Amino acid sequence: MRHVDVVELARALLDAESVTPACGAVFDVLEAALVPLGFAVDRFVVGDAPDGPVENMLATRGTGAPHLAFAGHVDVVPAGDGWTSPAFTSEVRDGLLYGRGAVDMKGAIAAFVAALSAQPHGGQVTLIITGDEEGPATFGTVSLIERMRARGIAPDLCVVGEPTSVSRLGDTIKIGRRGSVNIWIEVPGRQGHVAYPHLADNPIPKLIAALAELDALVLDHGNAWFQPSNLEVTDITVGNAATNVIPAAAKARISIRFNDLHRGEELVRRVEQIVHEHAPDASITARVSGEAFLTQPGALSAMLSAAILDETGLTPELSTTGGTSDARFLRALCPVVEFGLLNATMHQRDEAVALGDLHTLTRVYANLLRRVPLSQ
Ligand SMILES: [Zn+2]
Repeated sequence: MRHVDVVELARALLDAESVTPACGAVFDVLEAALVPLGFAVDRFVVGDAPDGPVENMLATRGTGAPHLAFAGHVDVVPAGDGWTSPAFTSEVRDGLLYGRGAVDMKGAIAAFVAALSAQPHGGQVTLIITGDEEGPATFGTVSLIERMRARGIAPDLCVVGEPTSVSRLGDTIKIGRRGSVNIWIEVPGRQGHVAYPHLADNPIPKLIAALAELDALVLDHGNAWFQPSNLEVTDITVGNAATNVIPAAAKARISIRFNDLHRGEELVRRVEQIVHEHAPDASITARVSGEAFLTQPGALSAMLSAAILDETGLTPELSTTGGTSDARFLRALCPVVEFGLLNATMHQRDEAVALGDLHTLTRVYANLLRRVPLSQ
């Protein structure tokens, strides 16, 4: 079996530009690395513009239990301005590898493939790779899960390679994520002259009263694994340029990050109720982008923690902080934990990973591959 060099593969992945939604070249690079390692590779394209087309990949090696899955995305956010060297031409400077996606998360994918090239394993291993995580995720991991169900691919454990480390590689594993819901509120009024308020109906005081009540809500006090849920008012728009006009409508947007004591729909209904007390005609639209979930600490987090301690000397914190990730879909398959590189430069200009961290992460994943069969 050819030994995959983690830095070489990371650079090849970074050089294949893959702003979300991603197809083509970046998957060619990954397939070319996996086939010589004995993986059966299944690539498929789904969806149309604007959210697609999206390419996805399932790559499987070995048979039997335990079946370990590794999940990741090869799409990246746009480069943005101000890079020291071109964002889609990888460059090593002072021990750091620069390129869009270095930590989020082509570096972790390269580390997992390098670990697989060096470390034999018992049971089946499947890579679940999408080109649509950074976008709306319409055709990404959701399509992969459907395809896995159709093909009878059923992992027992799943590691997501998102950049979870905060200050040092190995300091944090994510065992769950908060849920997220965005809610748009529009309060209608009746436009009129400020001097004749009895002929008009001003929507602004009603909206402000509703928002004040929403802002004062205590949703919960958190629990053993989650911080308290939080509601933020993220926008208020009236757009009234005239000094003597009572406006016809006022709009606001709120965003709630919630823990596993709530469901998205329940929070939307609660917001609706409060808004309608102040403005019965208000219209409300909502989008739940993910429910909160928790993988109770167990065999998987224990094995991963032990692998991290071996290779880094750190005992990782088990955390549920941060934004959403594709783990919110994958949890439907099996226990899911997330562990990867330092997240300090993700989505920023000059995104970079320390070469040493790429090698250490490869050793952590290889260590985990050694442990998985033993614990079953
Ligand atoms: Zn990511």
